[in-house]
Amino acid sequence: MVHKLHPYVPGEQPRIRGLIKLNTNENPYPPSPKVLEATKAAVDGRLRLYPNPTAQPLREKLAKLHKCAPENIIIGNGSDELLIMAVRAFTEPVATGAPADKCTVQYFTPSYSLYPVLADIHGARANGVPLKADFGLPTVAELKKGKQWRFRAALTFVTTPNAPSGRGYTVAELDALCAAQKGIVVLDEAYVDFAREHAVELVRKYPHVIVSRTFSKAYSLCFQRVGYFIAHPEVVGALDRVRDSYNVNGLGQVAALATLGDLPYYRANFKKIIATRARLTEELTKLGFSVLPSQTNFILAKPPQFPAEEWLGKLRDRKVLVRWFKYPEVRDYLRITIGSDKETDFLLKAVKTILA
Ligand SMILES: *Cc1c(COP(=O)(O)O)cnc(C)c1O
Repeated sequence: MVHKLHPYVPGEQPRIRGLIKLNTNENPYPPSPKVLEATKAAVDGRLRLYPNPTAQPLREKLAKLHKCAPENIIIGNGSDELLIMAVRAFTEPVATGAPADKCTVQYFTPSYSLYPVLADIHGARANGVPLKADFGLPTVAELKKGKQWRFRAALTFVTTPNAPSGRGYTVAELDALCAAQKGIVVLDEAYVDFAREHAVELVRKYPHVIVSRTFSKAYSLCFQRVGYFIAHPEVVGALDRVRDSYNVNGLGQVAALATLGDLPYYRANFKKIIATRARLTEELTKLGFSVLPSQTNFILAKPPQFPAEEWLGKLRDRKVLVRWFKYPEVRDYLRITIGSDKETDFLLKAVKTILA
């Protein structure tokens, strides 16, 4: 019943001149010059040909990076595509009459708001279980006590570090959760390059654990739509059965490969963004904001004086676009993407005129 579905609402992409865009966690720094060069060089008569169906050269290069085999890697048209593929491959629509756990897509709230949308599209059951009040991960004992969490759910998504709170989780906490879980667990590491720890070792330890990565946020490549899963070859095989034959476009493959050829450029950008995050946190705190510690390229901040929704409008009037979510747990906060130093100065100036 397609008319009953609630579509995912992405952050807006307005075309307003001079607008500082801090609403969709895009990277303020452009792709490496090598990526631009390689992409431009690929725009020729080859556009008439189909791209490599499995993005094999990219799988091979990613396998080297993560010290695994190409059979452990599957590439998607953005990691979003892989997330819906996981729902299709590992859960059953409720209408099939399959047991409840087989039809369950599980996740914590608040986290990436796409997960329940994907469950709905597939006709599966969405089980959103609250994080702790400080957006911490509940322990296995707490989840058992709370009764709502299903340890046999066919598919569980964990955004780590978490969005929209920015909170990071340790490998030890994630390990304990994965150990207790019977179904597939996707650790969605979209922001992990800005965090202290990553959990790829859990893929080696547990055949039911998937790590999801994307070139969008840390690698300045939203436009090209490339993401990937690292998983056990049997899990990759199952996903491959629901994959479109040419799911990753050719220019995206070229750009992602070139990205992996210039990682020092990106690592320098992570450092800059992390330094700007510290400065923005400190400055906003001085101005009366309550800023949660972040391990991502955005912060979640509770503004002073006016409700967060009003701040959204006031900042927009001053040509700064940030994100505000209506959900009860975060409606008092603004989510602000870390921009360049210049954009951050502009934002801080706007905040000061609002408070003046
Ligand atoms: C942005 C984001 C994604 C999707 O990234 P794409 O690779 O651009 O599809 C997935 N998960 C989370 C938590 C994100 O924030």
